[in-house]
Amino acid sequence: MRRKGLASMAVQTVATTSDSADTVDLGPASGLSCRECGERFALGPIFACEACFGPLEVAYDLPSGDPEELRKRIESGPDNIWRYAPLLPVPADVAGKPNLNPGFTKLVQADNLARELGVTGGLWVKDDSGNPTHSFKDRVVAQAIEAARAFGFTTLSCSSTGNLAGAVGAAAARAGFRSCVFIPHDLEQGKVVMAAVYGGELVGIEGNYDDVNRFCSELIGDPAGEGWGFVNVNLRPYYAEGSKTLAYEICEQLGWRLPDQIVIPIASGSQLTKIDKGLQELIKLGLVEDRPYRIFGAQAEGCSPVSAAFKAGHDVVRPQKPDTIAKSLAIGNPADGPYVLDICRRTGGAVEDVTDEEIVDAIKLLARTEGIFTETAGGTTLGVAKKLIEAGVIDPALTTVVVNTGDGLKTLDAVAPTTGMSAVIRPNLDSFREAGLA
Ligand SMILES: *Cc1c(COP(=O)(O)O)cnc(C)c1O
Repeated sequence: MRRKGLASMAVQTVATTSDSADTVDLGPASGLSCRECGERFALGPIFACEACFGPLEVAYDLPSGDPEELRKRIESGPDNIWRYAPLLPVPADVAGKPNLNPGFTKLVQADNLARELGVTGGLWVKDDSGNPTHSFKDRVVAQAIEAARAFGFTTLSCSSTGNLAGAVGAAAARAGFRSCVFIPHDLEQGKVVMAAVYGGELVGIEGNYDDVNRFCSELIGDPAGEGWGFVNVNLRPYYAEGSKTLAYEICEQLGWRLPDQIVIPIASGSQLTKIDKGLQELIKLGLVEDRPYRIFGAQAEGCSPVSAAFKAGHDVVRPQKPDTIAKSLAIGNPADGPYVLDICRRTGGAVEDVTDEEIVDAIKLLARTEGIFTETAGGTTLGVAKKLIEAGVIDPALTTVVVNTGDGLKTLDAVAPTTGMSAVIRPNLDSFREAGLA
């Protein structure tokens, strides 16, 4: 019944914007299609299928022709996600619009970490902490902003586990939108400050992310939320496409090659499903050689609904009440959970979870070996990678990419109790020698 409610709201929204739907320019995007029944819809701020209530995703007229030419065109593009504009739902002149221009983050060859974990086939960390607001969320918001512009929204909103709120606040500031975003009231200080500093409205909700999300769905159907673009609700089909750029970049940075194995964190599961979509597109376009790859999903034990379903052999995901330090992954009822299960099974991957203690250990491991300070989500991903390597599930002789989606400065509390100064001394050499550090 709840899904039906959402779908009818979606239909109302499209009715009010159908005039503009024919004229929107979102580049190669040709429409929306239902992931369940395949029904097609015109481009618009809708997210659920009128026929079956399934989720909608962007369909394309992708460029045809010589892959070598497309590869050259991409390589001569800007050093951000817009180099892939021909594969994204954005107008061709997107690079000239006010946008935070995220992406093209470093793919770090992690040799020290590989040695420590016994990986011989090559290990890389895709470090998305290098984005403008220090998480991968800048990629998805950059797409949503362009869709919001095309549909004539002036207020941007979202339900967030923290990073998305900051990404929306910053992107709205740059692009000249009003923003009003919603988060659980008890997030880490780093995330709250990072979301508030850009000057938009930030509203804490007394509840967890799933409560925040439910509230936002209600707001969309109410006059109070009219004219608002919720990046991860009514703009979700466009928003989600931003995660494809992670797949494009990883392959381009590997020399236009698919990695054998890729480990990705799961909150709603959107990122994981779209990285798979991006890899599939590169194969279809002839930009990479078609060979098997395996996708692995990472969750925290304290919020592991997808991992639990994977291990139990279920196709549906039973919601959980989150209790973990990995707050950016704390979605107890992940919208894309069943699709994640499909992808991890189809590619011969797996979904696994780790404890909060293992998350902290993995944060420190990455910092100690590679000089990368990740947040709890990255600790979850590396912790799961380590666990699956040790279990012989991830093959150490094959190339492996671990996706780091966020920055440790936003989750200092996770490591603060177990890190600190080696010594406090008086400012003289005797005191230094006494401390035993010479
Ligand atoms: C939101 C988020 C994720 C997961 O995103 P989904 O697409 O919802 O699965 C992973 N890592 C970080 C740091 C995030 O903020």
